[in-house]
Amino acid sequence: MQSIDYLIVGQGVAGTLMAHFLLEAQQSVVVIDNAHPHGATKAAAGIINPITGRRYVKSWRVEELIPFAASTYQQIEQKLGIQIFYPYAILRALFNEREENDWWRRSTELGYEKYILEQAHLGNYQQHTLPAFGYGELRHAAQVQIGKLANAYRNFFWSKI
Ligand SMILES: Cc1cc2nc3c(=O)[nH]c(=O)nc-3n(C[C@H](O)[C@H](O)[C@H](O)COP(=O)(O)OP(=O)(O)OC[C@H]3O[C@@H](n4cnc5c(N)ncnc54)[C@H](O)[C@@H]3O)c2cc1C
Repeated sequence: MQSIDYLIVGQGVAGTLMAHFLLEAQQSVVVIDNAHPHGATKAAAGIINPITGRRYVKSWRVEELIPFAASTYQQIEQKLGIQIFYPYAILRALFNEREENDWWRRSTELGYEKYILEQAHLGNYQQHTLPAFGYGELRHAAQVQIGKLANAYRNFFWSKI
């Protein structure tokens, strides 16, 4: 009988990253998953958005978590030979004058200028959105293919058996 340090139940993004960090810390893990067909990780868009909600506030601990997420996912890309992390800008449609004013007011606040661009670069995306009053653009956003991450890690676990 083989003894293990950790048994992880559930291999969505949370269980996958928990296993990743434990393995990096030289711990042994066994991961089990019942392959729920509608698991959140399978469905998620995987968007990392630094400014969210109707009040345009910074996401929780964004200054430390976005760089940490970027370095973690890039390290996993190297380890598994996959691409899952895509830094993107986010265009935000603003549907009336109040939303636009709130957006610009927020963009002048200390700590927000890093994320909110002065000028949105629409390109030809306008034709793909609902008619809007204006647009804002965010930097330091990203998309992570977390379903692909979980699948690739599952194959990695199997390869070690
Ligand atoms: C449509 C949609 C879009 C989303 N978009 C985003 C987004 O853009 N950005 C963002 O940050 N978040 C997004 N989310 C949220 C994000 O997907 C979830 O917060 C995240 O995937 C949760 O991961 P998890 O590992 O905790 O849970 P899950 O992904 O649900 O994983 C749990 C796993 O455990 C397994 N399991 C459960 N019970 C058992 C058991 N008893 N035994 C064995 N295995 C078990 C399940 O089969 C599943 O595989 C989105 C969610 C949805 C539904």
